[in-house]
Amino acid sequence: MKASTSRVALIGVVALLATACLAPLRSDDFARGVQRIDLGGGAAPLSLTYLGVGGWLIETPRTRVLTAPLLSNPSIWAAGLTRIRADTAAIVDGLRRFGVTDLEDLTAIISGHAHYDHLMDVPWIAARLSPRARILTNTTGARTLAPLADELGIDRARLVDISELAGDVEGGGEWIQLGPDLRMLPLVSDHAPHFVGLTLYDGSRAEDLVRPPVSAEQWLEGETLAFVFEMLGPRGEVQRRVYYQDAVAREPFGFIPATMDPVDVALIVPATYAEVAWQPEAILENTRARHVILGHWENFFRPPTVDPDPVPFTLLPDFVARLRRSLGGDDGRWSLPVPGTRFEIR
Ligand SMILES: [Zn+2]
Repeated sequence: MKASTSRVALIGVVALLATACLAPLRSDDFARGVQRIDLGGGAAPLSLTYLGVGGWLIETPRTRVLTAPLLSNPSIWAAGLTRIRADTAAIVDGLRRFGVTDLEDLTAIISGHAHYDHLMDVPWIAARLSPRARILTNTTGARTLAPLADELGIDRARLVDISELAGDVEGGGEWIQLGPDLRMLPLVSDHAPHFVGLTLYDGSRAEDLVRPPVSAEQWLEGETLAFVFEMLGPRGEVQRRVYYQDAVAREPFGFIPATMDPVDVALIVPATYAEVAWQPEAILENTRARHVILGHWENFFRPPTVDPDPVPFTLLPDFVARLRRSLGGDDGRWSLPVPGTRFEIR
């Protein structure tokens, strides 16, 4: 106990010193509103809207899907000490604030792991806002959501465990068709510790949960997945490739197959990056992304806002400095969006 307390104190001091030495982020480092990213090649338009935490609305001309949104944002004390549930008023209000008014035609809501900040709001959105969407998640996520699906009247057939379909850096895996012009490959990934080597709520579920989860510690991680999305053209050709991770992973976890062509856009996570070696460098080398967009960087223990602070325990300026170095100092190749920012990729 003493050793871990002094370790926390030491990390805190190091973090403070490091923060003091780093150039702070400036307001023009953050992307807001509508951002146009021109990658050329004559592909159809693709849009990516950041909703905070792991939440991205991905829209191709004919398909719309969502990755794990969190808009309930319980405080750090509530998440640690009390019962937590989806806050339906906060979900509706947060979506409206971020400019998302209609999720009726979503075909899928996707989450790579089952922590509450990635999955707690998903069943309510699926039940009330997106009645056609399948929920695609890892085995533990599907088992955790089972009683919530029953409570909310979601047909169990909409709840799909996709862990068995995951490929990895060696290849393999099975593509999942999400709509006429969008498909997705799950990838075996990993979840960095939250701080000082500790991972909260790790572990997995062998059986369906019997009653809906009521505390953060019931939202066990399971085996984390990452994803590649491919937007397809009229002849089935790949027009755009997007990488998405919802947690930092030790290399080579979360890597795309070594034989896959580079991705156009990588959505990567700064939160907890310093808990593993050589991130973000390793995932940038693997994906060879033309443009990098950061998600899951803001403090999600406060109500959703378009003007958030960085998440505690992560030195965002250091992460950005390393990202800049990896991209050869080209500031046109990365974006740090506030929630509500919409990227239009052409
Ligand atoms: Zn997590």
